Amino acid sequence: MSEEPAEIVVDLAAIRHNVGVLRRLTGVPLIAVVKADGYGHGLEQAARAARDGGAEWIAVATVAEAVRLRDAGYGGPLLCWLTVPGTDLVRPVAEGIDLTAYSVAELDDIAAAAATAGRRARVQLKVDTGLNRGGASRAAWAELFARARDGERAGSWKITGLFSHFACADEPRHPANDRQEQAFRAAVALAEDSGLRPELLHLANSAAAILRPSSRFDAVRCGLAIYGLDPAPGETPADLGLVPAMTVRTRLALVKQLEPGDAVSYGHHWVADRATTLGLVPLGYGDGVPRHAFQPGSPGTAAEVAVGRRRRPLRGRVCMDQFMVDLGGDAAAVGDEVVLFGAGPDVPTAQEWAEACGTISYEIVTRIGGRSGRVYV
Ligand code: PLP
Repeated sequence: MSEEPAEIVVDLAAIRHNVGVLRRLTGVPLIAVVKADGYGHGLEQAARAARDGGAEWIAVATVAEAVRLRDAGYGGPLLCWLTVPGTDLVRPVAEGIDLTAYSVAELDDIAAAAATAGRRARVQLKVDTGLNRGGASRAAWAELFARARDGERAGSWKITGLFSHFACADEPRHPANDRQEQAFRAAVALAEDSGLRPELLHLANSAAAILRPSSRFDAVRCGLAIYGLDPAPGETPADLGLVPAMTVRTRLALVKQLEPGDAVSYGHHWVADRATTLGLVPLGYGDGVPRHAFQPGSPGTAAEVAVGRRRRPLRGRVCMDQFMVDLGGDAAAVGDEVVLFGAGPDVPTAQEWAEACGTISYEIVTRIGGRSGRVYV
């Protein structure tokens, strides 16, 4: 291990495997979502592994992420869906990156960039079907589609896709899912009536791709599941065979004995009720370990790590650079391996950490890192 406090081990074979699992299950092209540095697994590395595993498309959020992938040599189909105001659109148009438009104003900006680039832009339209986040609201669809058709006829762009995003895909019986899918079908019909023929209709994220076959359309946009994380805990078939791609490991930096009544960490929120051994782990919220991994109170919650092959709970507040775990009566020594979460039979999952912290596994893997580099295997 290097002098960095942890190793963020990323198993690229797992990403390739997971893409294959999803590709076979859904039977439609896969748009692999690698935004936010590949959900913490590395932008370029995750994109390459996804393509090697059979993903037809790569998608990111921002134009900057898409351009970074082009700079890294990725020349294939590439979609981005969030334009930060003031972003230069000429480069992505020139690079054949699919830009996303939510509004007529965004289409106007893309038309100007296409004129400067001297090239037809590639544009996908995003409609809001009920998430009430990005995308054109229903009342604006007709105007957006009319402008998109006119610009296509004028040679400013080709409308390559039409898409939307679910709000509650991880709850397959939530009534919003049916409503959103119906709204998406209405948007597709209206787009066609307006004279548009987008090649790629897509709606499903990981959870919907797995659990809602009717939402697969021409492609599915999967992020979480390609990293081997469960997109709908309690709903995803247990035998799907996804393999977590990230394992976070470090070593005990100190081992000390506690007497009954000894209190641990800032605020003294955990007090030993018996003699025990405490292990110091050299990672903290400065490294992306959530401070909520230990929540005081009754009952309170505590994430667990694996030391050797045993699960050990966090004790006391997570600090900026370190946290403490209860090693019970076991013999332990400085340098013993500690696995926070990852793959393997005795190792906590990112999902378990998310539950202990009151968040989602997306946030756990995306934020972890800080002072530590990734190791690719
Ligand atoms: N599509 C859009 C528009 C997204 O914002 C995201 C991620 O948040 C995804 C697809 C991928 O979702 P998931 O990671 O749940 O597969």
